[in-house]
Amino acid sequence: MSGSEMTSVPAVQRVMGASVRIADRAAEIIRGILRAGDLGIVQKTGINDLQTEADRSAQRCIVANLARQFPRLTIIGEEEPDDRPVPDDWIVESGADPRAETLQCPEGLTGITEDQIVVWVDPLDGTKEFTQGLLDHVTVLIGIAAGGEPAAGVINQPYFNYQHPSEPQGRTIFGLRGGGVAGFEPRAPPADSRIVTTTRSHSTGLVQSALQALQPDQVLAVGGAGHKVMLLLEGRAHAYVFASPGCKKWDTCAPEAILTALGGRLTDIHGVQLRYGADVQHMNATGVLATAPGVEHDWYVQHIPADVRDGLKPKSG
Ligand code: AMP
Ligand code: MG
Ligand code: MG
Repeated sequence: MSGSEMTSVPAVQRVMGASVRIADRAAEIIRGILRAGDLGIVQKTGINDLQTEADRSAQRCIVANLARQFPRLTIIGEEEPDDRPVPDDWIVESGADPRAETLQCPEGLTGITEDQIVVWVDPLDGTKEFTQGLLDHVTVLIGIAAGGEPAAGVINQPYFNYQHPSEPQGRTIFGLRGGGVAGFEPRAPPADSRIVTTTRSHSTGLVQSALQALQPDQVLAVGGAGHKVMLLLEGRAHAYVFASPGCKKWDTCAPEAILTALGGRLTDIHGVQLRYGADVQHMNATGVLATAPGVEHDWYVQHIPADVRDGLKPKSG
């Protein structure tokens, strides 16, 4: 190995550092579109599956910048691909966030090359809530996977502090599996209660049965997979339980990377690891179950009732 290769930053870490800056630009675009007031709402599969001009533009910005800086990546975005050139001022020239290099890249990730990386992009998670003005539920998610596993993740909250206008607006948090996190202060949830977060706009009978069986002291029904995992990371909830199909790989990749960087877990409802290779089914068809660091994941898996598990059987099983 040459001297420059020995000192060079691993590809996973470079893509993560660039994604922090790119997510910041996407967040500006989202805020600009909402300020301008014309959301251009389109129904995808129905009234609870929406897309706005902010989703479309943020994805174009993210994909164009990633492809420009890292032409060998596989990029999978939630919205339809759109190869039209982006406006010049959407191009991010500022490189990588320098904090990305301060995380220690674990040995298992250092040898991964750009062409082995799959990036899962949810340009705007929590679209339904975005259109309803619940702005703190919105995140921009960039998940960086390798070998089928989430290796690093970036979560931008474009409206962090939006109810406190004198404070800095928006923030980006990120993490590297086995290498730590940055951009926020992790907190543990209270030891003397059980707080479960779940969907606000995609509930079903199975979703409710699973929640009831867990006998939570409190249920936080909020929008967005990114937002719900943030609640786990900041000690506001113990578990995120969604016993239904509907959530996709771009919803879970970045949150899972950051959660696991801190020792938390994110699996399907059966406790089985999700896979993030380029050929996987996009849908998390067997649900999502995530627990905060220090919370016993297996307890939640074991308390999901049999009828719920049967209703979310893996196709091969
Ligand atoms: P939620 O917890 O309902 O905010 O969902 C988390 C993510 O999964 C969001 O990106 C949703 O759009 C997506 N999602 C969950 N359930 C469905 C569904 N039934 N149809 C479409 N998208 C869904
Ligand atoms: Mg989403
Ligand atoms: Mg989305």
